Amino acid sequence: MSGKLALLGGSKTLEKVDPDTFKWPVVTDDHRKAVLDVIDRGAMSGRDVTDEFAEAFAKDFERKHALMCNNGTAAIHSGFWAIGVGNSDEVICPSITFWASILQVYSLGAMPVFADVDPETLCLDPADFERCITERTKAVVVVHYAGYPADMDRIMEIANRHGVKVLEDCSHAHACYYKGRQVGTFGDVAGFSLMSGKSFAIGEAGMLTTDDREIYERAILFGHYIRHGQIELEQVKKHIGLPCGGYKYRPHQCSSAFGLVQMKYYKEQFAEIDKAMTYFCDLIDQLPGIRTHRPAEEGSTKGGWYFPLAHYNPAELGGLSVQRFADAVAAEGAGCGAGCNKPLHTHTVFTEMDIYNQGKPTRIANLPDGMTVEQVQKPLLVSETVNNLVVALPRFIHFDKEMIEQQAAAYKKVVENHADLLEGDAGLAEEGGYSATFRSKK
Ligand SMILES: *Cc1c(COP(=O)(O)O)cnc(C)c1O
Repeated sequence: MSGKLALLGGSKTLEKVDPDTFKWPVVTDDHRKAVLDVIDRGAMSGRDVTDEFAEAFAKDFERKHALMCNNGTAAIHSGFWAIGVGNSDEVICPSITFWASILQVYSLGAMPVFADVDPETLCLDPADFERCITERTKAVVVVHYAGYPADMDRIMEIANRHGVKVLEDCSHAHACYYKGRQVGTFGDVAGFSLMSGKSFAIGEAGMLTTDDREIYERAILFGHYIRHGQIELEQVKKHIGLPCGGYKYRPHQCSSAFGLVQMKYYKEQFAEIDKAMTYFCDLIDQLPGIRTHRPAEEGSTKGGWYFPLAHYNPAELGGLSVQRFADAVAAEGAGCGAGCNKPLHTHTVFTEMDIYNQGKPTRIANLPDGMTVEQVQKPLLVSETVNNLVVALPRFIHFDKEMIEQQAAAYKKVVENHADLLEGDAGLAEEGGYSATFRSKK
């Protein structure tokens, strides 16, 4: 398809899109019935459905223990304390992720350290992870970013060699596999967000999973006083009665009920999403400038395809900025956004904010006086340029062949007519960065 681009006054590729194409989660009468039952029984703050859901979750997600929390932030927070993150510790985290992968460590007196992401996977760069390790490093957060499984072979080898604990943030990666093994089963503990936008979407909720009984019990101790009766280990048991974190992380049972029903549906739904996304990605991968973000290794998968992305190479499209590209595709009526999460290490919360009212940035709260943030936080090349080099793709819930082809046609039209967009393009992608190393398949 060629012709005048909609952004420049031409006609749109897609005149209208059925809102159900992207509606998520898919709500059935089963879900409605289960949620209403909780309300009718007055069981909103109860435990019965939550227990059943957590047990089913542990089984499917292949860990001995699962503790449901009121959100993913809480699950990750509990996980940090449970693995022993405390005052003066450093926790390494990739800079490109949602804040709730790491910001909770401030409330434990610990300091985040940001590592770069790999330009291909957009997950933690193993070499940079190793560079960040010091004698203060307690743990690393591994985010399977946008459902792309991180390089667990190398990350686990480095973590084990240095005695660094591993928390996997699986909030983007429910039922994703790394070389045949499910993510969330590699580290000491895993945290999942289950909020409405995520692949396993049940409302506001989160899940912590682990094979380690002590980690599980410590997480209960931290924010689940009502569950302290489950605690068996002597060293944990002596503290029961009050939540030692001072937090209350019990979930609402309407979410648990929704989740328990969702256990029946998600595999089938993910399979359809995978089929639809694979079809779409195969179509747009033929275009210059676009290379979809999906693992090539045998046995590695993207699960429910939360936040599907493509690498964008402006050099193959006359230097067209990603923002202008995305605006043009969106104007055609297709789903497209510029960029991904902004780098965390440049936000003032991590460069200057004095959260403890101590007279210095909390980022270096426990380092000797006179040290500066710049001394401990190096620039991160990929994290600082990645937002010029990725586009967010539509996430198809259904295998609607015609709709997928139309959306792909919008991308094709913009690529074929990209030269028309160069005039008036405000932000040419910055020179340098890792775009210089962009590996084109074509
Ligand atoms: C959504 C998300 C979280 C936090 O989960 P909530 O359920 O929103 O509290 C944590 N980490 C990542 C990577 C996320 O995307």
